[in-house]
Amino acid sequence: MRPRLYINLSRIRANAERVLGLLSKHQIDLVAVTKVTLGDPNIARVLREAGVRVIGESRIQNVERLISNGVTGPFMMLRIPQLSELDRIVSLCDYILVSELDVVRRIEKLCKEKKRRVKLIYMIDVGDLREGVWYENAVEEVVQATKICDWAEVCGVGTNLGCYGGVLPSEENMKLLLNIRDNVERLTKKSLSVVSGGNTSALKLVEEGRLPQGVNQFRVGEAIYLGTDVTNNREISWLEKDAFILEAEVIELKTKPSVPVGETGFDAFGRRPNFVNRGWRRRAILALGEQDTVPGQLKPLDERVEIIHASSDHTIVDISDVERCVHVGDTMNFRLTYAALLRAMTCPHVEKIYV
Ligand SMILES: *Cc1c(COP(=O)(O)O)cnc(C)c1O
Repeated sequence: MRPRLYINLSRIRANAERVLGLLSKHQIDLVAVTKVTLGDPNIARVLREAGVRVIGESRIQNVERLISNGVTGPFMMLRIPQLSELDRIVSLCDYILVSELDVVRRIEKLCKEKKRRVKLIYMIDVGDLREGVWYENAVEEVVQATKICDWAEVCGVGTNLGCYGGVLPSEENMKLLLNIRDNVERLTKKSLSVVSGGNTSALKLVEEGRLPQGVNQFRVGEAIYLGTDVTNNREISWLEKDAFILEAEVIELKTKPSVPVGETGFDAFGRRPNFVNRGWRRRAILALGEQDTVPGQLKPLDERVEIIHASSDHTIVDISDVERCVHVGDTMNFRLTYAALLRAMTCPHVEKIYV
């Protein structure tokens, strides 16, 4: 059998409902993000059932997959667009995050040709150093963007945090964003209705009642699927953690030394594993590898299982402390981190089973 990813749709729905519940109490709209699921239509459908209006995607191919499986918009394109895909993005997406005036010009031209209206959210970098115009230079650029638009519309400003610099959302950086919105409104005499303040990592501010008034949109993926917040290094207590479980089959059971024999170089991925001599250990090999997931980031449901190492197709686990009797052909189950889930969802060798 292939590694199996069990996808519990009712837990995903419950999480979406709970995130929606929290955000709506604070007048914040939820854009539910499907990019970590490869634009999975079954998942998008339960998000819609939970009451999600806008679905956020980072890849136009995933939006096309959703549409061809009967999921309708509105869609938000989260990744600032490639010129080479702009035609398809303008045709299929209703909201587009942008950070380049050239792109805004091209979008405006395409909208005019297609007689289509799209809404743009201009991205501001408030410190994380991924996408967006640096906050100190932002007002002028956003004002420029509003002047380019006629068929398209700059409906707001947004920011993304916790993705490169690992910068945490704070009252200060949210206020920077609101300030920029205010200054653009003052200079253009047009109102910007959307302040798109963040992703999973910003939920904490809402929970603690520290989100400044005026931030009114969150784009959330991780929390809905995993109930975790990797940037803040926390589990979110009020969300389900087991919406996704990965199962893999044992193909070898042996007792071996914990340190290799012979002169050592690098592993298959150019890494140098760190070996600790713990004597002879009982180990299992799983039919699962770097190709299917990020094995080193899996969390065994049986805490006595310890992941040691993995190459493309083999994952080695230490089962010396496992109480039950393990046999070849048995399976082991794991929770996933965001990175592990991303790779499992996008790997064709991982079977997806909806429960
Ligand atoms: C991926 C992404 C999100 C969602 O992030 P999560 O951490 O999964 O909530 C939000 N905004 C942008 C721009 C993204 O790329």
